[in-house]
Amino acid sequence: MSEGYRNFTTAVYCTVGDVNSIKDFAAFEEAFSHIEGPVHIDKVYLEYWRGDQWATKEHMLEVKKFFEDKGIKTSGGITTSAVGTEGFESLCYSNTQHLDDLKKAVELCAQTFDEFIFDDFYFTNCRCEKCIEGKGSRSWAEFRMAQKLEATKNVVMKTAKQINPKVNVIIKYPQWFEYYNETGYDLINEPKYFDSIYTGTETRNPEYSQQHLPKYLGYFIMRYLESAAPGRNLGGWYDPFDCNYNLTSYLEQGYLTLFGKAKEVTLFCLGALRKEGPWRLMAPAMGEAFRECDEYLDKLGNPVGAAAYRPGRARGENDLHSYLGMCGIPFEPSIEYPTEAKTVFLSEGASADPDVFAKMKETMLKGGECIVTSGFVKKNSEEFRQFANITVTDRKAVVHEYAGTHNNGINLDGRVPGFDPVMISQIDYCTNDIWELAAGYAKFNNFPIVLRARYGKGHISIITIPDNYGDLYNYPADVLNVIRGLFTNELPLKLLGGSGIMLFAYDNDTYILRSDLPYSDSVTLEFAPDVKSVTEARRGFELKMDDHRQIRMPLMPGMNAIIKVNR
Ligand SMILES: [Zn+2]
Repeated sequence: MSEGYRNFTTAVYCTVGDVNSIKDFAAFEEAFSHIEGPVHIDKVYLEYWRGDQWATKEHMLEVKKFFEDKGIKTSGGITTSAVGTEGFESLCYSNTQHLDDLKKAVELCAQTFDEFIFDDFYFTNCRCEKCIEGKGSRSWAEFRMAQKLEATKNVVMKTAKQINPKVNVIIKYPQWFEYYNETGYDLINEPKYFDSIYTGTETRNPEYSQQHLPKYLGYFIMRYLESAAPGRNLGGWYDPFDCNYNLTSYLEQGYLTLFGKAKEVTLFCLGALRKEGPWRLMAPAMGEAFRECDEYLDKLGNPVGAAAYRPGRARGENDLHSYLGMCGIPFEPSIEYPTEAKTVFLSEGASADPDVFAKMKETMLKGGECIVTSGFVKKNSEEFRQFANITVTDRKAVVHEYAGTHNNGINLDGRVPGFDPVMISQIDYCTNDIWELAAGYAKFNNFPIVLRARYGKGHISIITIPDNYGDLYNYPADVLNVIRGLFTNELPLKLLGGSGIMLFAYDNDTYILRSDLPYSDSVTLEFAPDVKSVTEARRGFELKMDDHRQIRMPLMPGMNAIIKVNR
């Protein structure tokens, strides 16, 4: 086995199918070397139950011993999926047989292991007659969250702790955090009952797969869930599915999970990563990516970025943060309102907090900046007028050229082409009361892309989000530079360029630039006056600023450029 990593540990998840397929240990040893040769493995999660498959305790103990004899730690696993024909079918928590099965799986795990994890099927999408009756007049989200919490307290945790008081019970949350409540996941109450949580950082082909997940999501959710259970978010988990189109896209999940400071990385799953099928290359390549990250992860401080407030019951403008992350905006998300932050970003989901306007007011009166989306304004059209008289109308415009300003909006400057035309909502605002920092041109008219006004000692900014969030990538560099500038004005550097370059920021003035473009390109970094020098962090050589305090950084697809800013 390869040597352990200094900055993180790794685990491989073994489904019950994987566990049951291990019959001949000598043959398995040979097959397993395909993964543990290139990847150092600290732990395996061994699953007892999934759908209609179970492992026997007798067999589980043999498999457990096999791994432990190799020096690999073992934990249990449970997948609460039902066997069905309509997409992913969950357990029905109104069904006593399903609850008995859940209890049995928890008993087996707690008897066999000191730790076990729930794969991210611990949700419910059941609409059977019993569930319809149980729901009553509540929303599905309210009903399902209450039903699940009951199962967590009285079936899972009670059973587990009675058998093994020191057992660490982990809930792994899926990467689709925008839809948690609807299926019974609850970031506000659930983590209080589980010992630990785990983060699904899976991203898929962003264009051609069902879940439309921009790559930045792998980093964003790692940080967001850390805020939901500080110190108890044990790691990040991803799989190779929908990544066959581009091997780098598989590795990228690993990079972003680790850039988000995961303590442990779990690779799902043993069967998929073995030598068979199209995934043969995944484990060897991931081993090399792990080695690469381990060389520099200790040079990164704690993640920082524009404070993105997303309450636990947020809904709306789904995955917008990750689309903006793909435009080079570094976020530090938070489930609580970030009262200390100087820059706070609020998308539509932030309006789930009934006190959000009072909190925003306080931020701005203290001199801070609140950045909101057109979706947030639309959702709160009446209340928002206390800051500025702005209406997101139902009228649309298709814009394809853009303008900036050199004097805070008194005049618009230039006529810059975008990529493809972009459909936006027309925002009605009062000229001379509020100013456009960037605008989109349509025929004989123009519409705001960025509006900004003073409020108290601070500012309120409004960004027009295209109807298709993916069209953010069609905004040209001149527009994205204005947007990015709002989010990153506390950082000692500005990223100037188009979309497709991610920026990760850390509190020791270390930064990672990563290109997701399918071609090589360069970006310009511009540094604040107090920056004395800039070094390439991995090899330590100086990157020289030009007379405009700028550095032109060439970036290849898939490359991680790490720089240290010295002030
Ligand atoms: Zn049901």
